[in-house]
Amino acid sequence: MMVAAIEAVLSIDLGAIVGNWRRLVAAHGAPCAGVLKADGYGLGAAPVGRALAAAGCRHFFVAHLAEGLALRAALGPGPLVAVLNGFGAGADGAAGLTPVLNSLADVAAHQGRPGILQLDTGMARLGVPPAEWGQLAGLAPLLLMTHLASADRPDHPLNAMQAGRFAAASTGFPGVATSLAASSGIFLGPGFASDLARPGAALYGLNPTPGLPNPMLPVVRLEAPVLQLREIPPGTPVGYGATWVAERPTRVATVAAGYADGYPRALSGKAIASFQGQPVPLIGRVSMDLTTFDVTDLPGLRPGDALTLIGPGCTPDELAERAGTIGYEILTSLGARYRRQYQPA
Ligand SMILES: *Cc1c(COP(=O)(O)O)cnc(C)c1O
Repeated sequence: MMVAAIEAVLSIDLGAIVGNWRRLVAAHGAPCAGVLKADGYGLGAAPVGRALAAAGCRHFFVAHLAEGLALRAALGPGPLVAVLNGFGAGADGAAGLTPVLNSLADVAAHQGRPGILQLDTGMARLGVPPAEWGQLAGLAPLLLMTHLASADRPDHPLNAMQAGRFAAASTGFPGVATSLAASSGIFLGPGFASDLARPGAALYGLNPTPGLPNPMLPVVRLEAPVLQLREIPPGTPVGYGATWVAERPTRVATVAAGYADGYPRALSGKAIASFQGQPVPLIGRVSMDLTTFDVTDLPGLRPGDALTLIGPGCTPDELAERAGTIGYEILTSLGARYRRQYQPA
């Protein structure tokens, strides 16, 4: 007997990701890598990487060695796969991956092998700090890179300061290609262009220009089926802690997604979903596997219909704003229980 599964469906538009990559190349006026760390920001590093490689992307960045090995297996030989957090010189199976060298110790450990040299120009996170740059003389890395701390705030003085330090340092590495901007840095203007930008977030549809209209195509849609509908009279509480109490005769829809699926509990009482373009307010607390919505104004809704939890009117950036986080965290938290559906590029 066939039993229909009642599960939320996460749709990932590979065509939109490729479209975003092309837009970023155009905005940068120079090549762009694809940043696929954290399983392609939760969307699947292998399918995203294959779609980008087929579109002509030749450079990929991940954070961990294991991510690099998995991506190399998905892509086959050819494109550069760089590991941002670096890896030990003797790491098993790392042949074919490129380490990012973040310290003098990394440089010494990987002597004679190609690597990407990261300079810390003002973030104090990873990379060789300015006080040690003098000890890098004579090195010829594959690529010289740095990372901007505040590129999502165009007026922040650190942006120009970091770009200036990076430009000055790069004169010590004649003929070596440079990599400066990530998603938001691409939109800071020509002073932030380099030989290879490293966008991640914008590929996946997050807005690289907060406060301005989003120049990227939407990539992710999450549809959660309604498990039950019920009519409750005024005075009836809904959900854990009875934090929401009906003030009018209310129709409540319970959908199959919760905080265990990465739909943040911090959205309790705060999120908006949608149904056929109509906004649908979340009521009560988000629980582990279930979330409740007020669908009183949607008399056409039937059990089995799906509410759009992520989509137009409830983008990852908008949900993040309501949950007090960033779109990056919404995407990288997307759960393993959704049925994933990829639209081909
Ligand atoms: C994550 C990361 C990126 C990509 O940043 P986005 O803001 O997602 O575009 C680029 N470079 C480094 C070093 C990173 O850690």
